[in-house]
Amino acid sequence: MHENHSGLPARELLIRGGHVLRGTSVDSQPERLDILIRDGVIVELGARVDAPDGADVLEATGKLVIPGMINSHYHSHDTLAKGTLEEEPLEYWRLLALPPQFPPRSRDEIKARTLIGAYENLRAGITTVQDMVTLFPFDPDHLDAVVEAYEEIGLRAVVGLQYADKKGITTIPYWEEIFPAELHGSLSTAAEPDAKVDQLAHLEDAYLTGAPRELVTWALGPSAPERCSPALVERTVALAEKYDLQIFTHIYESRAMALQARLEYTQYGGSLIRRLADEGMLGPRLNLAHSVWLLDEEIGILAETGTNVVINPLSNVKLKSGIPPIHAIEEAGISFGLGCDNSSCSDAQNMFQAMKMFTAMTAISRPDPGPTQADRAWHAATRGGAHALGRDNGIGHIEVGFVGDVVTIDLSDPTFVPLNSAVRQLVYAESGRGVIDVVVNGRTVIKDRTLTTMDPQALIERVRELAPQYLADFEVVRQRTEKLRPYLLEAHRRTWNADVGLNRLFTGE
Ligand SMILES: [Zn+2]
Repeated sequence: MHENHSGLPARELLIRGGHVLRGTSVDSQPERLDILIRDGVIVELGARVDAPDGADVLEATGKLVIPGMINSHYHSHDTLAKGTLEEEPLEYWRLLALPPQFPPRSRDEIKARTLIGAYENLRAGITTVQDMVTLFPFDPDHLDAVVEAYEEIGLRAVVGLQYADKKGITTIPYWEEIFPAELHGSLSTAAEPDAKVDQLAHLEDAYLTGAPRELVTWALGPSAPERCSPALVERTVALAEKYDLQIFTHIYESRAMALQARLEYTQYGGSLIRRLADEGMLGPRLNLAHSVWLLDEEIGILAETGTNVVINPLSNVKLKSGIPPIHAIEEAGISFGLGCDNSSCSDAQNMFQAMKMFTAMTAISRPDPGPTQADRAWHAATRGGAHALGRDNGIGHIEVGFVGDVVTIDLSDPTFVPLNSAVRQLVYAESGRGVIDVVVNGRTVIKDRTLTTMDPQALIERVRELAPQYLADFEVVRQRTEKLRPYLLEAHRRTWNADVGLNRLFTGE
């Protein structure tokens, strides 16, 4: 029996007899290996590792053992909205689904929604989420509820509060002129200025200066550059450097976001990337979610500065945003992760879906075949996500010294019979059905497809009790947005008629 640094018996788990996938190539052959995890870290990997006295054993014979996947762009705030919406352009969808449109939520609902989202991620073999959560209006107790939820269910979370200091209406082309003044108060975007509480000061006092936590760590989430003043960007960069934090923001998700840059940032040639370069935010700490409407020269700047991208294939398609320039991003050597984005628009927290859609989008974005994309999708879902989170040598891979975040998959499921290429079958054939066990930080959180850390039935019942109030509020939001539709369509049409220097949506022309 080993002891840990506190003098307590170490927590040990042996994952025995599985076929372990360690490479990311389509030709990678899973090896039959045992994995010993001690106090959350992989300490031994070998053809035969004996179980230490007192260790738990997870039988993995007949299973494919993969690193837990990393959902690098996720928002826990709308997990109750899955299945509520059809395709809607991004700017309408924001009015239908995002927290500033809704009455304040209860602590109880916030905790339950975080838990049900975490549970969905875990069941799909995701062991780390980057949760860019909007808590509006901000209440410190609500942030505590989010942290509590991740710790109780046992999912690794890099939480980044989403914040902004400019009103949404001033950041979307044509809205101020098209909407009658009396409606301006009802228009918002992903995050709105929050006058009552200084979220960054609270984050610093309550969490960043505190003792490190086992599963919850922190990132910074400036909502989108056009929603943040230069002073807020400066403060974000300073805080990130002080506490060694990654930064996540949304960039050029829609054509309207590209047009806004052209209209507002003339001093930077209409480029948000040039603005961020000038403000010192570009670099390996920064992750740009979406990056659909990047210009070629902007891709070059991202490559030079080592800035990362997070691609969200399903939301980009469902919200009619367009197809990101994946070939150009790959050819420039930019590191990228993959995300499942909001439950109100994607709607599943499922990296298998994200990986497959990624390959499909890439295939259709240029007529010539190649290069292979399944290996790039798998890399993005694991090691690319680790890089996005600044944890290259910590998560997303099965190796001694990495954390014990491991998923087992049923090799006797028809999906893997016969086993031709583990990576291709994970990307093109697996749906999530094959996920059997999910280990996070050496703890078996899902065992035999069953949540072990809390009573799943009680969680399900709690969410079902809370859902009617959420749906009643959603109905009010939906009816209000329906009345705005003529103005929204007018702004949308004008946006599509404006020249932004490129096109990322298939229009049949
Ligand atoms: Zn997002």
